[in-house]
Parts: sequence; structure tokens; C-alpha cells
Amino acid sequence: MSATRIDGKAFAARLRERVGEYAARFAEAAGRRAGLAVVLVGDDAASQVYVGAKNKATVAANMASFEHRLPADTSAAALLALVERLNNDDSVDGILVQLPLPDHLDEQSIIAAISPDKDVDGFHVINAGRLSVGQSGFVPCTPLGCMMLLTDRLGDLSGLEAVVIGRSNIVGKPMAQLLLDANATVTIAHSRTKDLASVVRRADIVVAAVGRPEMIRKDWLKDGATVIDVGINRLPPEPGKDKGKLVGDVAYDEASEVAAAITPVPGGVGPMTIAVLLRNTLVAAHRNAGLDVPEGL
Ligand code: NAD
Repeated sequence: MSATRIDGKAFAARLRERVGEYAARFAEAAGRRAGLAVVLVGDDAASQVYVGAKNKATVAANMASFEHRLPADTSAAALLALVERLNNDDSVDGILVQLPLPDHLDEQSIIAAISPDKDVDGFHVINAGRLSVGQSGFVPCTPLGCMMLLTDRLGDLSGLEAVVIGRSNIVGKPMAQLLLDANATVTIAHSRTKDLASVVRRADIVVAAVGRPEMIRKDWLKDGATVIDVGINRLPPEPGKDKGKLVGDVAYDEASEVAAAITPVPGGVGPMTIAVLLRNTLVAAHRNAGLDVPEGL
């Protein structure tokens, strides 16, 4: 069997287009564009690239982007004052503080200062709590993107066995919660799980969010499983090259021989994250403006 390649890049492009159309309608109805504020502290190279990409995608989706780039030695008080200003700014619907923050800043207390109704990353404890009890809030973008790919592919997930490998607050735990809400039978595996291969072999749905290159092998998978690979790992460069290849947590080629469907890396889950961020921002804008959130968003 050769697995269907789940094309997250194409799915994300369609979602961004849809968000762009709804955002144009929002601007007409509200008399202003939906706005996303992105705060970057310091000069981490990867973060610079992400923030630049978010800014471009926001503008392309007919929304306003407010970028705040602060020096690496910014104090907690100055950062908190900026967050407070953005909380009170009616042109800002979503606030995203790019992680990781420099070591002297405590990420949890900065995230806690963001208004939960503008927390489009879904990292605030209030939004984690809302997800856990089934209230509407904001769900972290990467797991929500995985869920969209899964329901697009499988439809109803009721009764399916799902194994999520990884228990981080931003991917593994919210992913498990979403699968549970969709009536899957969910196992969360992690670094202390015994005999991980046989746990994974039970799964109709495998979501890998570990950060270990090609750890999940063909013989770990049940025939016909659907595999969502969140991992982004760079291999050491081959001789003569300055950058190594990007791979996921799943050994893609061999897993494709057993799985029914699988996301590639790159081009699978990765592009979904920004698309869902735009979607969450537009949802926030509708709520903040007292407008109904459109059905297909
Ligand atoms: P994390 O480091 O916070 O969590 C990793 C998890 O994997 C931990 O819960 C740990 O228990 C588990 N783990 C570690 N070693 C293991 C092992 N040998 N066996 C089983 N479980 C093990 O990472 P994260 O932030 O959740 O990210 C996971 C991966 O997903 C990373 O590669 C990251 O780059 C990627 N990621 C991608 C996106 C995206 O947009 N596609 C977004 C976020 C994270």
C-alpha cells in the first residue's frame, strides 16, 4: 500500500483564502480591519523569520498587522506595559508574543497578562481551561490545524483509537483534548511511556509531536493508520552542503508503505499553523466587534 500524502500546504492555502474573504467582509461590516499584534523580543533568527512570515500573511488576508520588535534586554515591566496597551487597543483583536523569550523574562507571567479574549495563540491558562471543559475560547494553532486535517480526511472520528506522542502544553495536551472532544479514544504517550511501539501500533490515528528525527518507524504503525507528523527536525548537513534536510518525527518513506494517509515534512502540518492563527484572529475580531462568527471559518 502507498499512503495518501495529506497536503497541508494546499489545505492551508485554501483556509487563508477563505479567511481573506471573510476578513474583507468583516472590514465592511465593522468599519475597520481585524488586527493582529505580534511582539518579538530579541533577535532570535528563527523567530525573526516566523514574525516576518506572520506579518506578510496577515496583510495578505486583508487584516492589519502591528509589529512590535523590542531589544533583547527589554525589562519585564516594559513588556507587560506593552501587552497592557495592546489589551486596551480596540484596533487589536489578537496578541501574539513570539516564544521563546530571552531567559530573564518569565513566559508564563507574560502570557498570563494577555487578555484571554485576544490570546489567539490559545496559550493562556483561561483558554487551556476553556478547552478542557468544552467552552469556546482559543485553541493553540498547531493542534487545531492537525484536527482540521484529520476531520477533512476521516470525517467522524468517533470511537477511533488515537495516540498522541508528546505532552507539551502547546501541542500534545491540546491535541489530545481535541481528539477526546471528537469522541476518539485517546492515549497520550511521552518520554516515559513503556514499549511505545506497541502503544502506537494500536492507533488508527497517530499524532507525533516529539522533536526526534524519524523516530516512528514502519513497524510501529497499524495497517491503514492516519499519521499526522508535527515534528520539525533538521538533520546534520551532508558533506558539501551548509544546511541539513528537514524531517519529521516519522520515517516518512517507510511509514507510507503501511499508513493510509500521512502528512509530509515540510508541507504538512507546518503551513497550517499560520493559517489557523489568521483564522483565530478573525474569530477574535468578530467576537470583539459583537458580530456572529461566520459558519465556515
Ligand atoms: P516539547 O519538546 O515541548 O515536547 C516534546 C514531547 O515529546 C514531550 O512531551 C516529551 O515527553 C516527548 N518525548 C520526548 N522524547 C520522547 C521519546 N523518546 N519518546 C516519546 N516521547 C518523547 O515539543 P513541542 O513544542 O510539543 O514540539 C514537538 C515537535 O513539534 C518539535 O519538533 C517542534 O519543532 C514541532 N512543532 C511544530 C509546529 C508546527 O508548526 N508544525 C509547531 C510546534 C511544534
